[in-house]
Amino acid sequence: MFKRAIAGATVFLALTGTAHAQLSETEQQIVAAVRQRTTAALELLEKSVRINSGTLNPDGVRAVGEIFRAELDALGFKTRWIDMPPAMKRAGHLVATHEGGQGKRVLLLGHLDTVFEQGSAVPLWERRGDRVRGQGVNDMKGGDVILIEALRALQGVGALERANIEIMFTGDEERGGRPLQTARADMVAMGKRTDYALSFEGSNKHDGVDTASIARRSSGGWTLHVKGKAAHSMGVFSPQSGYGAIYETARILNAFREQVIEPSLTFNPGLVFGGTTVSYADDTATASAFGKSNVIARDAQVLSDLRYLSPEQGERARQKMQAIVSSGNLPGTSATISFSESYPPMPPTEAGRTLVELYSKASVDAGLGRIDVLDPSLRGAGDVQFVAPYTVGIDGLGAQGRGAHTDDEDLEIASIERGAIRAALLIYRLTQAAPR
Ligand SMILES: [Zn+2]
Repeated sequence: MFKRAIAGATVFLALTGTAHAQLSETEQQIVAAVRQRTTAALELLEKSVRINSGTLNPDGVRAVGEIFRAELDALGFKTRWIDMPPAMKRAGHLVATHEGGQGKRVLLLGHLDTVFEQGSAVPLWERRGDRVRGQGVNDMKGGDVILIEALRALQGVGALERANIEIMFTGDEERGGRPLQTARADMVAMGKRTDYALSFEGSNKHDGVDTASIARRSSGGWTLHVKGKAAHSMGVFSPQSGYGAIYETARILNAFREQVIEPSLTFNPGLVFGGTTVSYADDTATASAFGKSNVIARDAQVLSDLRYLSPEQGERARQKMQAIVSSGNLPGTSATISFSESYPPMPPTEAGRTLVELYSKASVDAGLGRIDVLDPSLRGAGDVQFVAPYTVGIDGLGAQGRGAHTDDEDLEIASIERGAIRAALLIYRLTQAAPR
């Protein structure tokens, strides 16, 4: 017992002697409070990961929500569960509110679901030394635990009491319920009344330096429908029979590649099918086609995504594509294109950059190294994009690991403590700055 106390005191002195000189007394207490919970935090993570919460397993998503809800209740948050319409087939969301009446308002975002549905061959939890492999360990239950441990540390030193904090853990981040306007209505409302939004998706390293995101590209797509005339193949290229739907599809795709590509813009035709008759089943993402080599193709379709960084870039791409589709058609063919947008783009802003600088400073002050801004092309779409139009948001405050969404998704265990220290200091500094 006595021995342990001495060891603890030595560690504390060693830390205060170096990096912690940059931290106030309260901030040093916050760091100590996070460190005290390192073992317990991993246990909380394990408890939440051992429940399958694939997006299409609402019972599992709600069960994980209950675990986190109990933690937030204990910290003095008012919590509630928001159900979605039954037709949406999603679990709903956990919302927590702390009205302290002072300082800036901060919104914290996490999600309860994972891409691993019931029956997945990936183990729920598999410890491997200083790492853990498992379902959603870094995307993003690790981030959820970081968020909770950061708040617990603030509460432990009395820094939560007067802070204005809202939290939303969505139950359908990986496969958003439709329509998305309904699924994210509550989040948008929260985004409109907050000063800052911090999202705890997995944190990436780039060139050996930890990063956070100030921009994320939209996620949407397009579908191309092309028509030709079914006729004997010997007449192909003739004015009467025309070129058929497949040559016209090739013309359009090649023109997209030659004329539409620009930095930060991508589109990937992931499925192309054509022939005399075609059909596509959305629920299984399966196409079927009937055709013969001696018949000119009558029908063709292409399914693609479309990712862009700003609304202007998206509009520019759509206009160029539309022009290519509706003019210069090969003889005997016609084409139409339809666009969809699921996640609005989150363009980079100065305010976002400044927020990452604050985050980076908190990390440096705690002796945990600087944090750079991540290139948006290195990150997919996420929930923070729904609030980005209304507030200053950053993402990537979560855990670190490899292979998110794959069979090898894993987590670097130490990144939980590191992330919680950084997040706690940032939230503390944001919420304590009294309006002047
Ligand atoms: Zn995620």
